Amino acid sequence: MMKKTNEKPQIITRRKFIGNSITGLAVLGFSTLSFSGLVAAKKGNNKKLGIALVGLGNYAESQLAPALLETENCYLAGIVTGTKSKEKQWQQKYNIPDKNVYNYDNFDDIAHNDDIDIVYVVLPNSMHAEYSIRAAKAGKHVISEKPMAVSVAECQQVIDACKKQGVKLGIGYRLHYEPHNLEMMRLGQNQVYGKVNSMQANFSFKMGDLSQWRADKKYSGGGPLMDIGLYCIQGAIYTLGELPISVSARDTTVNRAAWKTVEGSLEWTLKFKSGAVVNSVSSYEQDYQDSLVATADKGKFGLGPAYMYDGLKGFTPEGNMPFNAVYEQVLQMDSFATSVLNNTDVLVPGEMGMRDMYIVEKIYQSMQQGGKELSLADIPKILHKV
Ligand code: NAD
Repeated sequence: MMKKTNEKPQIITRRKFIGNSITGLAVLGFSTLSFSGLVAAKKGNNKKLGIALVGLGNYAESQLAPALLETENCYLAGIVTGTKSKEKQWQQKYNIPDKNVYNYDNFDDIAHNDDIDIVYVVLPNSMHAEYSIRAAKAGKHVISEKPMAVSVAECQQVIDACKKQGVKLGIGYRLHYEPHNLEMMRLGQNQVYGKVNSMQANFSFKMGDLSQWRADKKYSGGGPLMDIGLYCIQGAIYTLGELPISVSARDTTVNRAAWKTVEGSLEWTLKFKSGAVVNSVSSYEQDYQDSLVATADKGKFGLGPAYMYDGLKGFTPEGNMPFNAVYEQVLQMDSFATSVLNNTDVLVPGEMGMRDMYIVEKIYQSMQQGGKELSLADIPKILHKV
């Protein structure tokens, strides 16, 4: 699997995170990967499932659509876009027939289209719940980009709609398929270097264009926490393999005039029953930071970069991690398609998206209460165990 993108590298913008280089030769020599059922699934069912991408923005164009040329169990069958000029361009590039092209008004007609098995929602955050629910009502399996929605209540509505319609729901947390991050899970959860006592998980970059939807709460639901801070929350929980019991958070926005509806920067602390404490920083105002580091009884291990599409690097007390880049989105979408084909559990289900949104809401509450430590006693009980 060769990862391709035409994007030119840029510095300290989101694009760095989005990944630019023509790297990523997938060498999957990682025995504990949880999606080993892929090949078995394929043998039992020759049909590739059809995916329709909803929202043809940067992520859909630069990552998901090219990945769907390399997936084994699914392919790009349809598109949903509000931009007329994109229709022909995408149809030609990906060989998509007229009957599989939708806009936001006729989207619900997708219910009658047998070419589409899965709808993948890649819209601004505040639109995820609406389109996930409409997709479920159309009888389609749903993948929602992160964050799953912009509130716990919305997440619950999406989960309920998918359950009611008997369709599967997955969240686009691609790092659950990435070897360095899987190694963090293995090292932390199995206490390979002893008990993890503390972690630092940071994800920041300087946002250049503040007119974009990410800086507008109406569309984003929140600032860097909703967008990239989520990776730090995820990293902490899957490395420790336990749920946090409390959180405290501080709004550290520097240029308050610039950030009118969302935070520009924040810091938070998650505490765990084991005694582990995880500190995080996430910002749209700070220089690029992208790391996940654990301090255990017998030394430190971690990643940096930790969350990008490729170029990830990891270290342990015994040296550097040996893994090559994989095409995360290929693995993620094939894994989901396998769950549909085999009617098995989704590796990254909606409940996990809702769990993270519960933490996000508590972080914002703590920020509003001047950093008060809040209990996470009602957290949805879901973990990704290696
Ligand atoms: P983007 O702005 O490039 O694309 C958003 C798309 O939504 C555009 O095609 C736009 O036309 C469309 N859209 C429809 N209605 C809109 C409206 N009212 N306002 C603005 N846009 C509207 O954004 P993106 O970077 O592609 O992000 C899309 C989603 O994907 C986000 O939820 C983001 O969190 C997620 N994402 C995930 C990853 C990942 O690694 N999993 C990476 C990047 C983005």
